[in-house]
Amino acid sequence: MVRRVNFSAILAFIFIISSFVTVFAAQKTGRRKVTVCAKCSAVIRHGRYFIMEGKNYCSQQCLTWSLPRCSNCGTPADKTWFSADFPQKKYCRNCKDLPLCTSCGNIASQRRPGNIIICTQCEKNVVTTALPVQDMFNELRKELKNVLGIGTNHRIRFSLVSYSGLAQKKGSPPDRGQRGLFRHDKQMRKEVTYNKFTGKTLSQKTTLAKEDFSIYVLEYLPLMDFRHTVIHELTHDWMSQYFPYIREPEIKEGTCEYIAWLFLQKTAPDDPEAKIICSHMERNPDPIYGGGFRMIRKIANKGSSTTQRIKRLKAYLAGQK
Ligand SMILES: [Zn+2]
Ligand SMILES: [Zn+2]
Ligand SMILES: [Zn+2]
Ligand SMILES: [Zn+2]
Repeated sequence: MVRRVNFSAILAFIFIISSFVTVFAAQKTGRRKVTVCAKCSAVIRHGRYFIMEGKNYCSQQCLTWSLPRCSNCGTPADKTWFSADFPQKKYCRNCKDLPLCTSCGNIASQRRPGNIIICTQCEKNVVTTALPVQDMFNELRKELKNVLGIGTNHRIRFSLVSYSGLAQKKGSPPDRGQRGLFRHDKQMRKEVTYNKFTGKTLSQKTTLAKEDFSIYVLEYLPLMDFRHTVIHELTHDWMSQYFPYIREPEIKEGTCEYIAWLFLQKTAPDDPEAKIICSHMERNPDPIYGGGFRMIRKIANKGSSTTQRIKRLKAYLAGQK
């Protein structure tokens, strides 16, 4: 019987063994460690070199190129500043105090009433009356029903408004950061029946003559903010129909924020702007909006699936009666 020997396998084996031996020998004999530039990989043999955060650099140039860059102007900076709202961005000394776009954290170019501060990039996708906003609203309403099963069937009038328009519709100055409004207007009719002969009142009853549901959203919101605001207001509409007895602002606003948060997580899980909006909701210091959101999330998120979460939320809201 002839045994076939695989020479290449043997060679590979010898090579692997020998390289282990070399490494081992180098460690054992404590051969002088070579210093390599962390930027250009050049071997630093002698002379002066730079050390920053435990890394070696062969030249001033390599050091400068390795410094973190300002997210706004791109300048390498030895010291950078962060914003709690956008921890992934860093700003240099010159840019640290400039106003930031509330949508993405870039330096803002526009400041509008209603605390809308946006950059040139986000300015390109703001929602204005130039767009078919009624269709966009209808689509979102459908999407919310499909994704989370939240919604009503009555007609809702939708319009974009200016900041002063929002204040007028609300009848008072909008809350800090308020970008939308849901209104349920009722007109009641009083019906009185008299006795034909005596003129005495026989019965009195008040009936609903007309009711209107409207949602107003600030114009010039970047698209993701628009989606967040519309879903928040649609949740108010849903709550007013199914849980009209709930008065506590933490539960109302918390539920609307939670539904908007869940909706963005489901429909735009990889969108950077949606991520920013969600993290704002999660860290919002406001006791009603932020505190309410965290309270509702704690209750609903005990459910493992989306369906379970909505079920838990509904059970909690029903229990408030
Ligand atoms: Zn170098
Ligand atoms: Zn800068
Ligand atoms: Zn922006
Ligand atoms: Zn609200």
